Amino acid sequence: MSRRKSARSDPDPRWTSKLAPAPGELRLVQAFVNTADLAQGTDLAGPEALARWLEHWSLAPAGATLTAADLQRAIEVREALRALIIANYGEAVSDAVVARLDRAAKAAPIQVRFGGGGRVRFEATAEDLDGALARLCGIVAAAQLDGSWERLKVCSGTVCRAAFFDFSKNQSAKYCQVQCGNRISALAYRHRHLSEIRQIDVTRSFNRRNRQRRSALKAHES
Ligand SMILES: [Zn+2]
Repeated sequence: MSRRKSARSDPDPRWTSKLAPAPGELRLVQAFVNTADLAQGTDLAGPEALARWLEHWSLAPAGATLTAADLQRAIEVREALRALIIANYGEAVSDAVVARLDRAAKAAPIQVRFGGGGRVRFEATAEDLDGALARLCGIVAAAQLDGSWERLKVCSGTVCRAAFFDFSKNQSAKYCQVQCGNRISALAYRHRHLSEIRQIDVTRSFNRRNRQRRSALKAHES
């Protein structure tokens, strides 16, 4: 990643997320995962869009340039993070996901730094993409230590998969917004309704065949 002079473009509105942001720096991980909007079928449009996203969240200096390979690497780490978040529902994390995140975490040196109020942060020393991805891993580490990580979830909506923070008291939320849950309920209702209709059809044809058999038998006996 190298720097170049360019006019700073306006950030994509999705980068600030329509969803309630996770507390503290965990919102950066949430926003990173949500750079792909599966419901809308949109994703980072190219390396330039990734560079602007990193700049927007102060993860890279202004005017940085990235390559298609950088974008690919970032997307791989992003999807590994999504898989790690899904594990917060109690699902196992695959070795491939762990290996990918481990590679990202050690690609750039991380330092322990004291911030405002004496809060400790894990900061990357490099200002390139490796530094940005390692910094995101450092945020995951801090969230796992303070217990907020388990509340970061991926929406269970069929075509959503957005990262959201579960603010519910009993930590049982599964959808990023009510509509995603409603869509699932509507699909489940439709599925149940169709199976009932099929069941009725099967019973009807079974009864029809029985009636035909009985009348054929009667005709044979008379
Ligand atoms: Zn959703």
